Amino acid sequence: MDKGKVYLVGAGPGDPKLITVRGLEALKRSDVIVFDRLAGPQLLNHARPDAERIYVGKLPDRHTMKQEDINRLLVDLALQGKTVIRLKGGDPTVFGRVGEEADLLQKNGIIYEIIPGITSAIAVPAYAGIPVTHRDLASSFSVITGHESPDKLDHSIYWDKVTNATGTLVFLMGVAKIGYISEQLIKHGRSPETPVALVQWGTRAEQRTVVGTLSDIDDKVKAANLKPPAVIIVGDVVRQRDTLSWIEKKPLFGQRVLVTRARSQASELLAKIDDLGGETYEFPVIETRLPTSDESIRAIEDALGQADAYDWVMLTSVNGVEYFFNWLDRCGIDIRRFHRAKFAAVGPKTAEALASRGIRADLLPESFRAEGLLDSLDSQITAGQSALLPRGDLARETLPKELKERGVRTVEIDVYETAMSAPRDLWLPEMLANGEIHVITFTSSSTVINLLEALRGLGVNNPAETLNHIEIACIGPVTAKTAEENGLRVSIVPEKYTIDGLVEALVERRRVTKGE
Ligand code: SAH
Repeated sequence: MDKGKVYLVGAGPGDPKLITVRGLEALKRSDVIVFDRLAGPQLLNHARPDAERIYVGKLPDRHTMKQEDINRLLVDLALQGKTVIRLKGGDPTVFGRVGEEADLLQKNGIIYEIIPGITSAIAVPAYAGIPVTHRDLASSFSVITGHESPDKLDHSIYWDKVTNATGTLVFLMGVAKIGYISEQLIKHGRSPETPVALVQWGTRAEQRTVVGTLSDIDDKVKAANLKPPAVIIVGDVVRQRDTLSWIEKKPLFGQRVLVTRARSQASELLAKIDDLGGETYEFPVIETRLPTSDESIRAIEDALGQADAYDWVMLTSVNGVEYFFNWLDRCGIDIRRFHRAKFAAVGPKTAEALASRGIRADLLPESFRAEGLLDSLDSQITAGQSALLPRGDLARETLPKELKERGVRTVEIDVYETAMSAPRDLWLPEMLANGEIHVITFTSSSTVINLLEALRGLGVNNPAETLNHIEIACIGPVTAKTAEENGLRVSIVPEKYTIDGLVEALVERRRVTKGE
């Protein structure tokens, strides 16, 4: 058997978008992913669904896997012919033990690549508004490990040389030793007034910064109960933070928002939350797909075959538009065969999706719920007309029912099916229980039902109780009603039932809870 290959990849400091393009390509391509917690769990969404995931970090019943065992694991997997990625926090060569991993691979004749990552030593200060060098304040920086007991620390660090060697000093793994580190730096010639910052969980929703001077930082860290992981920055560049801090100023900074929508539809919501400084956590519980039963396919073909018989084509969602055109293509039907029909689109996004196919909707209902459509239709639609409704299998019954009551011949076709999907996610139940998810967004009733079901599948006995410790945001009253019927306490419902409305409501709620 041919030997496999191993990619030793830096995953960046936490924000999953801070991986390199090359690292992401390796991730998408690999058969096996070997990872630990510093390499953000959300990155795994990019892996192939069938890829094997091996967690080598700490578990409640197990310590982190020993480095020698990880080295051996990488070799064994590659000897089985697999393409393996070892994802490591930050950069793999900065206190990442990549040397030991590469060494054993090399001894076993296995091809490997080292793909650098963005190290926390630079990125975490940057996210706190602290550049590690500055034209006037620091022309050099050192990255130093603080991870040793004080006596060993004295063996590995020559304080007399390190203290004044560079303008900026960056310590990793040093939170527990901050008192000792400060003492040594003062003793070896740094002013007690030298500014110091500790940044915990940089680039993530939990990012927190404590600033002081060498003389008082130990007390301040204790008072703030700051815990690892954190980066320590010593030097005048720390003062830059007063003017340069940026992500902390964004309205959703500090919020980790669970997004339950189908991956294909979630991008707009994800991008908006991200732009406002929130951290998104994707857990898509829905997937849409083409119907497969002979019966549904025949119904669609028959309905589309009579394209020139309709007075109306009514589309109620972006998915409806996409799958409608998908079927036209599959059935070889030209859109111009609907030449008699007017088009109605519920909601601006549906109208946009239609417009992108070259069709300007004739009717745009004022309200975004199906009931609103009927009000605006009142004067335009008359008994005896016929309407085609391409939609999903879970679409609500209000619209066809009322159309029929008005004497309209109504043909409904399920152009797509909605199925439950439950990503394999080791972390979510624990994160929910620990308060690491701050807001949950629901964009349809099925996202509510499916999330509860998925959590039960992940071993959460009473999901509603777990979720009720968290802010729950629903896109509109119908979704909120489903949530409440399932025992959830909904705290956020926007005035406008759109993604934009939802995002605005998140920002407003955050403003209120922060007491601004
Ligand atoms: N290879 C990694 C460093 C591994 S050592 C890199 O290049 O970033 C682990 C230490 O890195 C932690 O103890 C902490 O000091 C630092 N660290 C990593 N990620 C961090 C984060 N998101 N926020 C703060 N410190 C972090």
